[in-house]
Amino acid sequence: MLSNKKNLDKMKKEDKETTIYGSRYFAKGISKYVMPDEGMPARAAYQLIHDEMNLDGNPALNLASFVTTWMEPEAEQLINESLDKNFVDNDEYPQTEVIQSRIINMLARLFNAPEDCESVGTGTIGSSEAIMLALLAHKWTWKKRRQAEGKPYDKPNIVMGADVHTVWEKFALYFDVELKLIPLKEDIYVISAEDVAAEVDENTIAVGAVVGTTFTGQMDPVKEINDALLKIKEEKGWDIPMHVDGASGGFIVPFLYPDMEWDFRLEQVRSINVSGHKYGLVYPGIGWLVFKDKTDIPEELVFDINYLGGSMPNYSLNFSKGSSTIIAQYYNFIRLGYDGYKSIMENMSENAKYLSKKLKETGKFEIINKNTTFPLVALTLKNSNFTTYQLSDKLRERGWIIPAYTLPPNAEDVTVLRMVIKETFSRDMVNMLFDDIMNVCEKLEESFEEEHRKEDHSLLY
Ligand SMILES: *Cc1c(COP(=O)(O)O)cnc(C)c1O
Repeated sequence: MLSNKKNLDKMKKEDKETTIYGSRYFAKGISKYVMPDEGMPARAAYQLIHDEMNLDGNPALNLASFVTTWMEPEAEQLINESLDKNFVDNDEYPQTEVIQSRIINMLARLFNAPEDCESVGTGTIGSSEAIMLALLAHKWTWKKRRQAEGKPYDKPNIVMGADVHTVWEKFALYFDVELKLIPLKEDIYVISAEDVAAEVDENTIAVGAVVGTTFTGQMDPVKEINDALLKIKEEKGWDIPMHVDGASGGFIVPFLYPDMEWDFRLEQVRSINVSGHKYGLVYPGIGWLVFKDKTDIPEELVFDINYLGGSMPNYSLNFSKGSSTIIAQYYNFIRLGYDGYKSIMENMSENAKYLSKKLKETGKFEIINKNTTFPLVALTLKNSNFTTYQLSDKLRERGWIIPAYTLPPNAEDVTVLRMVIKETFSRDMVNMLFDDIMNVCEKLEESFEEEHRKEDHSLLY
């Protein structure tokens, strides 16, 4: 708009000659709810929005989220180069599809899919879409089996712990499946195989297990649940698949604990999701869904799309989406390799353990994830005169974003503070964060004591 002469001539003199901050657009309000009649120069629009975004928190100090806040410049370059490609146009951009399929192959092997299986999968917007798609497939398989047996199929249910992410509850609600949610206990924030065995029945479409819970970064006992389901299969004939939610853990366990059996090595584990934008180290939004074998996804659910030219299978909830995060995931895979991921995971884990140890030694906190299996620290306050919410608020004044929240039922009396340690969070940052936490605790104690002195004082008169 700015480039052609006619437009330039039309522009007001002050817009051409002053700096952008001196232009009239900065002395006028911008239209927020009605599209403005007239536009403004690109530079002014950019600066107005850019400045507004400064009100957001600083991603580098955001310990609330698992999601990636930094990638290498080369990855960003590739992302920029693919911003204009719609992933679904895959006849036009066949190479993106080829790359996606290489990633699925790598993931299936990372998750130890048996040699005799033909794993399939798809890239998604995040783990949420991946979980919905996985559970829909299991629901469909269950329904077909019930139909074939001439049995009713109107009461599907799904069994999982209250430690699952909200997307599991969304699935049950949106897709009309009864939710059998196993409550947590006072001091154990994952489920047990016995809990699961007691809840499943012939109408159970799948059992959910979490590797790296959102709340405390702990793990449901996937292997024990698998064994319980195998026993049930043998005794009652119910072949109940397990879907493992490895949104964060799927990129941690294979590198830090390769011998831990949580994946396709276990017979009943039929599908796994992982968030590429969490410990896959890619910017948001990319998730992955892998089925152990192509028989785990009913073919009716895979749509064959031919109106973009050629023919392609499509299993997704939405249609168009960007390609750039898929390319970025592939960049990380070939750039880092297994060893590269492993050393990043080790660093994060060391730093999380270091922070956890330092905080524990102050005697002020009770660490919830005592083994620090995943690189995060979840803690509660020990008999202090202030709450985790106050601590969280005060830390925010320094820029740190550290959420305080209550655990799911029946552990809702426990309020925790959670700090996710990411790749960019150096030992130095850990030390600065620790010092700030200590300062804030001291200040909160002081103001509590001051309040008390005032109260005592007022009683005297
Ligand atoms: C983050 C998370 C999700 C949701 O994943 P998105 O990639 O944000 O859609 C689901 N389950 C668990 C355990 C998570 O940590």
